[in-house]
Amino acid sequence: MIYTIATIGSHSALQILKGAKDEGFKTLLFTLKQNLDFYKQYPFIDRFISLDKYSDLLKIESKFKKYKIIMIPHGSFVAYLGKDYDEKTVFPYFGSKKILSIEADRNMQDKWLSFSGLITPKIFGGLNSVDRPVIVKSYGAKGGSGYLLCTNKKSLKKALAKFQKEKIVIQEYIIGTPVYVQFFYSLIDKRLEILGIDRRYESNVDGIGRIPSVFQKNMVADPSFTVIGNFPIVLRESLLPKIYSLGLSIVRSSEKLAPPQGLYGPFCLETVIDGEMNIYTIEISCRIVAGTNLFTNGSPYSDLLYDKPVSSGRRIAMEIKKALKVKKLAQILS
Ligand code: AMP
Ligand code: AMP
Repeated sequence: MIYTIATIGSHSALQILKGAKDEGFKTLLFTLKQNLDFYKQYPFIDRFISLDKYSDLLKIESKFKKYKIIMIPHGSFVAYLGKDYDEKTVFPYFGSKKILSIEADRNMQDKWLSFSGLITPKIFGGLNSVDRPVIVKSYGAKGGSGYLLCTNKKSLKKALAKFQKEKIVIQEYIIGTPVYVQFFYSLIDKRLEILGIDRRYESNVDGIGRIPSVFQKNMVADPSFTVIGNFPIVLRESLLPKIYSLGLSIVRSSEKLAPPQGLYGPFCLETVIDGEMNIYTIEISCRIVAGTNLFTNGSPYSDLLYDKPVSSGRRIAMEIKKALKVKKLAQILS
C-alpha cells in the first residue's frame, strides 16, 4: 500500500493506527517528545515524528507531503491544534471539513439537529424565561468540564455571573441515562452502521450518585461533568431501530446542509434517554470519539456486521481501502 495513515498521539490514535495496520496501510504518528517512549511499545506504528509542541506540526507538514499521507482527525485535534487547523493543513484529511465547521458552532449544530427532526433539550434565551433545571455550557468547553447545573434562579444568576462575557448556552437539564451512539456512515457503500455504544463516567456527578441522599445533604458539592472514562453499554433492542433512524435523518439532512457528500465516516450522537424512553440529543460529534476505544477489538454491534474485529479506527481504514479500489478516494478526503 503506498498510502500512509497518520494522526496525532492522543485520544484514539492507537486504535486508528492499529486499524490502519490491520488493513495493510503504513502508519505514522506525530507525537510530543515526552510521549514517544509510550507509543514506541506498539509494533503497528511504523514511523514517529516527535514534536516539542503540537503547534510545530503545521511548520513541518510540507516536508512529508511526498509520503502520501492521509490524516485522520480525532477529538484532540481542536484541543491541541486549534479550531483552524482543518483549514491550514496540507495533508488530505478524512472527513468533511464543511460539516466540522457546522458542528463547531453550537447554534448551527442545534439548528441542524432540530432540522433533522431530533428532539433536543429546550434552549432558554436568558434568566427570566427559565422555568426548570438547566445546564449552562460555555461554547469552548470540551469533555463536559466547566458545565454548571442550576436548579433555581439564584444558582443560575451565580453561573451567569461566572461566565460573564463568554458565549454560553442555557439548556434544559434532562434527567436520564447518557447514551453515546458511535455511528459510521459509508459514502462508498451508502450504508449507516452502528459500531458501538457507550456511556460516560463523569466526575463528580457520577460520584455524587454513589452517596446516599442523607449524606449528600451535608456535603456541598456542585455537580461537574468532566469525562473520566467510558463504560460499554448495550441498549434495549427496541431502542436500536429508533436510534438508527435518528442517525439516518442526520445523514440525510447533512446532504442538504453540506452538499454533495454531507456527513460521512465516524460520528457520534450524544443522547440522554429519559424514563419515557424519549431520546434527547444533546450534541453531535462528527469525527471519531474516545468512547470507541472500548471497542479496539470490535463491539457487540460491529460483531453483528463483520466477521472480524472492527473498531471505528479500522472501519476508517476499510473505507479508505475500498475507496482506493473503486477509485473514489477524492470523494472521502477534504
Ligand atoms: P486528551 O488528549 O485526553 O487531553 O483529550 C483531548 C480532547 O478530547 C479533550 O477536549 C477531551 O475533553 C476529549 N476527550 C478525551 N478523552 C475523552 C473521552 N473519553 N470522552 C470524551 N471526550 C474525551
Ligand atoms: P456534552 O459535552 O454536551 O457531551 O456533555 C457532557 C455531559 O454533560 C453529558 O455526558 C451529560 O452527562 C451532561 N449533559 C450535557 N447536557 C445535558 C443535558 N441537557 N441534560 C442532562 N445532562 C447533560
